[in-house]
Amino acid sequence: MTAVEERPGTRPRPDVEPGQLFVGGRWRETAGRFDTADPATGKTLTSLARASAADVDAAVAAARQAFDGWAATPGRERARVLHRVADLVRERADEIAALESADVGKPISLCRAVDVETVAEQYEYYSALAQGVDGATRQIPIPSHAYTRREPLGVVAAITPFNFPLILSTSKIAPALAAGNTVVHKPAEDTSLSALLMAELLAEAGVPGGVLNVVTGFGSEIGETLLSHPGIDKIAFTGSTAVGRHAASVAGQHLKPVTLELGGNAAHLVFEDADVERAVGAAIKAFVFNTGQFCMGGPRLLVADALYDTVLGALAEAVPQVPVGDPFDPATVVGPMAGERHRAKVEQYVEQARADGGRIVAGGGRPSFEGDLAAGFFVQPTVIADLPADLRVIQEEVFGPVLTVQRFATEDEAVALANGTPYGLAAGLQTTDLARAHRVAARLEAGIVWVNDWAMLDPAIPFGGVKDSGFGREYGPESLGSYTRTKSVVISLA
Ligand code: NAD
Repeated sequence: MTAVEERPGTRPRPDVEPGQLFVGGRWRETAGRFDTADPATGKTLTSLARASAADVDAAVAAARQAFDGWAATPGRERARVLHRVADLVRERADEIAALESADVGKPISLCRAVDVETVAEQYEYYSALAQGVDGATRQIPIPSHAYTRREPLGVVAAITPFNFPLILSTSKIAPALAAGNTVVHKPAEDTSLSALLMAELLAEAGVPGGVLNVVTGFGSEIGETLLSHPGIDKIAFTGSTAVGRHAASVAGQHLKPVTLELGGNAAHLVFEDADVERAVGAAIKAFVFNTGQFCMGGPRLLVADALYDTVLGALAEAVPQVPVGDPFDPATVVGPMAGERHRAKVEQYVEQARADGGRIVAGGGRPSFEGDLAAGFFVQPTVIADLPADLRVIQEEVFGPVLTVQRFATEDEAVALANGTPYGLAAGLQTTDLARAHRVAARLEAGIVWVNDWAMLDPAIPFGGVKDSGFGREYGPESLGSYTRTKSVVISLA
């Protein structure tokens, strides 16, 4: 598969025809097809294979067949292979970034600096950890030799969302493979292209056939098949809270371990002692990053009374300056939404907030473009102030470049507002008071808290949710641990 054909003067066009699945180390034909759109132009980008239940059976069987060999491969050898993946990702970085940008509408600069680089870093990180998947000896007061083994789980179903296709598939595949599991990956239907390219790249790096399989298609079809498939030993799901809840119930019926990385609606607290310029910069980054399609974005800004007007004034001036446009322009910071349905959802929330008396401080509509981009799925970065906390736009996950701004009088009120939604994925605060930073970080209901910046992420730092944002952690040794189980062996010495 050649991922992208560069033609000077035109937008790169992914060349992934015909749509195929990757099963058992080979491309596999299937009868069904579905189209995927270029979010920047609204035009059809390419067509993908629409996998059936029989294709899922074949992928699970291939993964099952490959499992014994991969699990028995020494960790050091698995590490070498995973490290080669990182090297190949770096060698083909421009091609991978261009494909992701065309498919998701992400700004090319972001794809290159964040998405592709993070994938390489994750493979390097889990390559290192693959060499240390081992147990421990335990001293017990009977004459015995007692030790634990950490064993892989088997075949993992990795189900991933549309917004960070490369990063969030790697955050499952890299630790799962490092621990000796095999994987069937189902990417989101809107943004599946990089999963196919990565399958090809992992094979080139030496990942044996069947260790990673990719099936493209719909959640309601093959996603469901995977959840209840008897050949699946673990479900690693990232997506919306509604689908995650369903995945958990199916996993419960089949008693399969499951990790759920679900929706978020983070609060970002600006205390009266904050560095205002820094706080405003972080607030903008937190809500426009990835066009607001960021589970750990900061769509709720809570500002101390003393700074409320100053911060709103700074946002009103700075937000309209954020470059919105063609994802292939290196200067673009905000591209289109990844799909038409995502834009429609965001616009509905903005209209409702307006009707509920919200003050639009910036944006509130669509940017206007001529030519190809005129039919793209763009929205303006939007700031809305003066809304009560119980409104849907504040309580629910909007998942677009929309920031609501509320005010608070005391630290207790700030924490109560921050914790006052069903979600608990990320949170952040701006303060120059060190004691306050630690005190408030401890009180915020979230899996990760950032102080004086936003989105500081690294494969070594675990993230994940509390409350309706799910459970389980990705990144760090915690993630590797979630792809192993402990067996105890006790040998009598009597
Ligand atoms: P989604 O829940 O609609 O889909 C996620 C995946 O689940 C897709 O691959 C989809 O095809 C599949 N799916 C849908 N229905 C299914 C079913 N019945 N059975 C099995 N699989 C099914 O989510 P989305 O719109 O793609 O992604 C956006 C959501 O993901 C947001 O809520 C966002 O916050 C969340 N998210 C969370 C994290 C995190 O780390 N916590 C990261 C990124 C995105």
